[in-house]
Amino acid sequence: MLKDSLSALFTAHCIEDVALLPFSECKVQKGYLLEKKEGFCPSSVILFLLPYYTETPDNFSAYAVCRDYHFFIRELENTLLPKLEEAFSPYRFYAFTDHSPIDEREAAVRSGLGVFGKNGLLLTEKYSSFQFIAEIFTDAPLSLLGEAKLHPFATCFQCGACQRACPSGVLRGEGKECLSAITQKKGELSADEERLLRQYHTAWGCDICQNVCPYTKRAKEAGTIYTKIPYFLEKRICSLSSDLLASMDEEAFGQYAFAWRGRQVLLRNLKLLKE
Ligand code: SF4
Ligand code: SF4
Repeated sequence: MLKDSLSALFTAHCIEDVALLPFSECKVQKGYLLEKKEGFCPSSVILFLLPYYTETPDNFSAYAVCRDYHFFIRELENTLLPKLEEAFSPYRFYAFTDHSPIDEREAAVRSGLGVFGKNGLLLTEKYSSFQFIAEIFTDAPLSLLGEAKLHPFATCFQCGACQRACPSGVLRGEGKECLSAITQKKGELSADEERLLRQYHTAWGCDICQNVCPYTKRAKEAGTIYTKIPYFLEKRICSLSSDLLASMDEEAFGQYAFAWRGRQVLLRNLKLLKE
């Protein structure tokens, strides 16, 4: 439970799902990221969800429909963090996502934001797995921010639908590579890899284990799955094509998550889908 003053700062950015955790309860994996912040000794973590789902794209993963969420975190660093530092002076605040000092999924489960899915993702009632996790570390004592309720490490329904549907077999422990990783490989793909891209019609990423999950069905039926965060609603792309890529200059292209392996990887994949 967050104090009203803290909750209001997140609500102003359309961020609804926020929870607290004592730093001592987090599994630290990359402590060096915090050591870079000289003299900073975190005592509390503010975890929050960034739901991104808007629609199912034609030939790539739903997380890449909107602009890269790392840029959204940078925006928050420039807008939300100064407000937090002002409201809770003299304490310090640092935001992380993805490349985080802690195990984000575990921390999100322990803070009560969701459960851990067999597909390896955080699952929530509202958004299923279609959210990014982010966190803000602070040396402010937890009592100043609100109350943290520690939750047991809860898991999903364990129905196994994701494992059965997984095209590469990675979720069944068959030692294969995730199709999402295959779409991001540079150079030539093997005949089997090419077949997977064509069969599952993907030029970037794979959402199969997310789409078959009953949490997704429930979140869609309830209508809660859709993001309300303006950043994720603007400048969306629903279908990738070589014509679209040709029309994008480097700046526009670089705004999207599918850009990080370069144009050639996408063009190779798109060509395969046409064959
Ligand atoms: S993203 Fe696709 S290939 Fe990867 S684990 Fe999920 S279903 Fe399997
Ligand atoms: S499909 Fe079933 S087993 Fe897989 S993550 Fe969803 S609830 Fe869990």
